[in-house]
Amino acid sequence: MIKLGHILLLFISASVFGQLNPQTKSVTKKIFPDFEEVKNVTPALKKEKGFTTDEELYAFLEGLAKNHPNKVQISYIGESQKGKKIPFVKMTNPNQKEKIKVFFQGGLHGNELASTEGVLYVMHQLLNDKNYTHLLDDIDLAVIPMANIDGYLKESRYAANGLDLNRDQTKLMAKESVILKQAFSNFNPEVALDFHEYTAYRRDFSKLGNFGVANIFDVMFLYSGNLNVPKNLREFTEKLFVKNASDLLNENKLRNHPYISTTKYRGDIHFNQGSISARSSATNYALTNTISSLVEIRGVNLGRTSFKRRIQSIFLVATSYLKTAIAHKKELKEVIQKAIYDEKEIVVTSKRKVYTSKLQMLDLDTEKIIELEVTKRDAWLSSAVLIRPTPKAYLIDASQKEIIEKLKTLGAKIKVLEEDKKIEVEIYKIIEYKRNSKKYEQMNLQKVKTEIHKQQKVFAKGTFMVSLNQKNANLIVEVLEPEAPNSFVSFGVLPTEKDAILPIYRILK
Ligand SMILES: [Zn+2]
Repeated sequence: MIKLGHILLLFISASVFGQLNPQTKSVTKKIFPDFEEVKNVTPALKKEKGFTTDEELYAFLEGLAKNHPNKVQISYIGESQKGKKIPFVKMTNPNQKEKIKVFFQGGLHGNELASTEGVLYVMHQLLNDKNYTHLLDDIDLAVIPMANIDGYLKESRYAANGLDLNRDQTKLMAKESVILKQAFSNFNPEVALDFHEYTAYRRDFSKLGNFGVANIFDVMFLYSGNLNVPKNLREFTEKLFVKNASDLLNENKLRNHPYISTTKYRGDIHFNQGSISARSSATNYALTNTISSLVEIRGVNLGRTSFKRRIQSIFLVATSYLKTAIAHKKELKEVIQKAIYDEKEIVVTSKRKVYTSKLQMLDLDTEKIIELEVTKRDAWLSSAVLIRPTPKAYLIDASQKEIIEKLKTLGAKIKVLEEDKKIEVEIYKIIEYKRNSKKYEQMNLQKVKTEIHKQQKVFAKGTFMVSLNQKNANLIVEVLEPEAPNSFVSFGVLPTEKDAILPIYRILK
């Protein structure tokens, strides 16, 4: 029982102070040995303790630009809430080749410290390691290495106002979310990787195994199971990009798995696998017809433990995605083009498939890898619940300026009616309404059910029109269809009430 008490104490300390390393030295040595071949070339790797500061970040990037002036271009896309400049770095080898646009991001959660360091390491190697410098012949790379700079400097997950920037990608309530999304939309990548770290020692794991378990995977891949992401794009991502990266990690003895996280379901611990949520990067990017993955490295609360192993994991995944994109350049461009013109029904809501499955975990008592039988709720095998025909366009009342601004940031092209016009539309009437009094991410969520009626209606000059014949159509659908879980209505960005008619209308084909 001493051991149980010890483990509980670790869980409590780790959750209260967030700093105490919950991993024993023998686990590190036996199961997560470090990768000494990673060279000390980035700011944190050059020092014994601590992580990259803002000053070190700026100096490191400016050093890259100084040493490679024809390959590196630094810009600052805006300032954080605390007034720190957010760097955006473009890298390529200048030549006449058709390039693939790739986007890397680190540090969106400020306590996921190897995510920034790993991205900096990748940048350095692409410019200096001759085994990798040729990759930039075919790649136009854009990198945001420290997305949540305020959070990173405090080693906090959140932005300065307490918002989680990876839950804010449809409602766009944090200043940084607008800056980051605008930069993403302007760059318009074909491949996007968002690097994160996850917590291997979760409090709810203390109930599993004899005396608790921990997650064992060096890397978890999160790619979208959202049914509005065209199927060819989802399959191309999983069966080619994730598969190749996973094979490379296996060759390097780095354990990897599709993304899982725990959730309480009627008192039991279930494992959510994958994601469909447009508020988070993996799905949000995929909805703009981008090959997209969020890469989770095992690292939160581990300090500098296995730091080079975590950095090497990021390096291998990043370079694998670049190599896969180059090897399949023509097919990649075709898949994305096809996805843009994918005409189908809209899936407004969906449900996950639930099944039991085996999962490898680290047993904290024996410090051995064990296999548990767990219940999974799988987003990649989700099925549609509410389906609607794809409209030709949405009309939005001229008064809805805030929503229009958000749509523009999300990369939507918007037109305006130039004269009053009578148009047959579908209107949404709210027939069921519930508002959460408890806030989520500082918003009062609304849950609605609508009834759709056909109507001839005169729309005034100045009414906004959002056509769905555009690249980001699938993301537009997720924010405008009221019942969709991350829509402007669901997130309370567009307040409504029972029996109201929404200021959003559908024009059918
Ligand atoms: Zn994260």
